[in-house]
Amino acid sequence: MKIAIIGAGISGLVAAKELSQIAEVTVFEKSRGVGGRMSTRYATPYQFDHGAQYFSAKTDAFKDFLKPFETQGIIAPWNAIFCKINFDKIVQTQKWSKQFPHYVAAPKMNQLCKTLAVGLNVVLQIQVKTITKLDEKWEIFDIDNKSLGIFDFVISSAPAPQTADLMPESFRYLEEIKKVKMVGCYSLMLAFKREIILEWEAAIILNSKISWISINNSKPQRPQEFCLVAHSTNAWAEENMETDAETVQKELMAEVSKIINFNIYKNKYANLHRWKYANVEKQSGQKSLFDEKNKLAACGDWLIQGRVEAAFLSAMDLVEKIKNSITK
Ligand SMILES: Cc1cc2nc3c(=O)[nH]c(=O)nc-3n(C[C@H](O)[C@H](O)[C@H](O)COP(=O)(O)OP(=O)(O)OC[C@H]3O[C@@H](n4cnc5c(N)ncnc54)[C@H](O)[C@@H]3O)c2cc1C
Repeated sequence: MKIAIIGAGISGLVAAKELSQIAEVTVFEKSRGVGGRMSTRYATPYQFDHGAQYFSAKTDAFKDFLKPFETQGIIAPWNAIFCKINFDKIVQTQKWSKQFPHYVAAPKMNQLCKTLAVGLNVVLQIQVKTITKLDEKWEIFDIDNKSLGIFDFVISSAPAPQTADLMPESFRYLEEIKKVKMVGCYSLMLAFKREIILEWEAAIILNSKISWISINNSKPQRPQEFCLVAHSTNAWAEENMETDAETVQKELMAEVSKIINFNIYKNKYANLHRWKYANVEKQSGQKSLFDEKNKLAACGDWLIQGRVEAAFLSAMDLVEKIKNSITK
């Protein structure tokens, strides 16, 4: 059986790894590297985890999955000094610890997905555009209408709006997917000549257009140059989705300066990334979507919650449904 998986984020790669035990799997990814929203931006000598900041494990399934990666040092707990800041005043501080680990991949956030991708057939820089029925199979095409092959089964692990765009009309869950609402986020990346002395390493910001700031180099095994990652709130990003990048960057930099009481224009490097589909606001209600008759399926965090663990659980739910269907 030949299976195509669209998307090399954690959900697509987990599904690919599991399904490659029973099928010939090809993963198509539109970006230059794997990781999706668990990715890393390089600006040598700096590195920024500009998507997911950390991940926790609440279920036994995810804890068991993570164990070998922790043993190999591919993930590590980030015992950050964490605080809540009400605009510019610290209202709560705690140190994260092994009681409830906050993990990061090491030495960079995309390392977990890079490790998962080893041994898999992952085709990068290919954006899947259409999926067309050919006898009892599916032929898939890229944005230049070039055929990418014929498959028995197609799975999309792309965010809901992108999955809705590429799935054929016959997909049983298409209308359900179109109702899923995903919201954006801006990620501001800043590097400095000298360290800025702050009382924390990770902070949730309240009552601001900024929702989160972290000292990226405080995470395990990162280059030591001082650098910050700040995220806008989803609401502010949605309001400013079409605003030009220069204006967005200026506004967010001014806001971060006020929060940390330091003029961050004295930076060495500044960049902005727009995540159009960062987080899910309204889910579909099922952990994964399996259209057994048409041999089409979808998985991803957006089916459960905007978290790394949810992406993993969605992929595993789908894998179980597919394996059960094959062996029954
Ligand atoms: C700014 C931000 C901060 C976050 N912070 C946290 C956090 O602190 N903790 C946490 O647990 N989670 C966090 N998350 C959420 C977490 O990153 C996601 O839940 C998880 O990475 C989703 O994985 P996924 O595989 O479902 O989707 P993705 O990682 O989005 O993977 C989908 C992949 O599909 C590819 N793709 C899309 N369309 C196509 C196409 N047509 N053809 C080919 N490829 C395609 C995309 O390029 C992408 O690589 C954050 C997310 C963002 C954006």
